[in-house]
Amino acid sequence: MNIPLSKICYLGNEEEYGIDAIKTRRISGQGVYVQKFEALIAEKTQRKYCLVVSNATLALELALRALDIGFGDEVIVPAFTFASPAASVMAVGAKPVFVDICEDHWTIDPAEVKKAISSKTKAIIPVDLMGHPCDYDQLLALGIPLIEDAAQAHGAAYKGKPTGSFGVASVFSFHANKAISTGEGGCILTDDEQLAKKMRLLVNHGMDPRNRYWHELPGRNYRMTNLSAAIGTAQVENWDQLVNRRKQVGATYTQAFAHKSLTIRKDAAWATPVCWLYTLTSPNSDFLIEYLRSEGIDARSVWYPLPDCPAYRHEKVISYKVTSRLAKEAFWLPTYGDMTREEQDYVISTLLVALENLKVLNDM
Ligand SMILES: *Cc1c(COP(=O)(O)O)cnc(C)c1O
Repeated sequence: MNIPLSKICYLGNEEEYGIDAIKTRRISGQGVYVQKFEALIAEKTQRKYCLVVSNATLALELALRALDIGFGDEVIVPAFTFASPAASVMAVGAKPVFVDICEDHWTIDPAEVKKAISSKTKAIIPVDLMGHPCDYDQLLALGIPLIEDAAQAHGAAYKGKPTGSFGVASVFSFHANKAISTGEGGCILTDDEQLAKKMRLLVNHGMDPRNRYWHELPGRNYRMTNLSAAIGTAQVENWDQLVNRRKQVGATYTQAFAHKSLTIRKDAAWATPVCWLYTLTSPNSDFLIEYLRSEGIDARSVWYPLPDCPAYRHEKVISYKVTSRLAKEAFWLPTYGDMTREEQDYVISTLLVALENLKVLNDM
């Protein structure tokens, strides 16, 4: 059996809306689905303004630009995450400052963030990692604007408040491996009317919406197509179900591996996490991944510590000890909304066999 790491799950009107967009020739950046999609996400996350864009990496860049962050400025980012936060900081000419994550729930460590603050610090980009929200009371108390990267955390909550609602600007990704997906895509959320207006300008060439070709700002093109938004609209209509299905997949894995020689994330008491990609850790992760892969299961090791990568090696680092250990030991198991019981049983039984083989090897 071949099991992919992830794939998009359709539960409703994706085909119908997608075909409608194609038939009506509304497949560029304008159309009814763009507006519908934006309204539905804003409602779901309790935010005033939502702008959909072509991906979450550009959404982060857009937020930084709109907040006038650039040359000479510093932005604090986690050392352990997909690279977009650090890359977008550098794309606007500012400097990322890397800090470590918490030992238990793997999100950015507020105590380390505090150490990283300097007179140049203009923002923090906390990442709701693997679907677990950051410790927002602690982060907000630092008094520095947050640009929340909720790319992996659709439907999670911190003390009952949804992820995506904590930043001056917050972003979601709709990449193919995310719980809510348009293949490629992202959005940015805010409650600040001025900021929303400025981002609307920047998204569309800096053009005055009432006066075409009158450029208020040197903007760019970050638009999402109406075709993508059609798929997204259908996805958001089933937001809770799509999120809950992945949660169920996660719960089944946790039950199967709870008493084995594997470690799982320790969720914080204040968190209502979701399951993005199910993550386990083991000092023998290389052996386990290789075994799973040889049996057709697309298990994967997680990201390298960003401060080790050539792209970021010369940037400022406060600490990344937990990151370094986790980067070696953590790995993902296939996780998607329409994973069948049979597929999941195959992953579980294969990993249990791998663990048995490991025991035999270690006892030799
Ligand atoms: C997926 C992801 C992104 C990037 O999203 P794209 O839409 O692919 O650009 C950014 N940050 C995090 C934490 C992600 O997981």
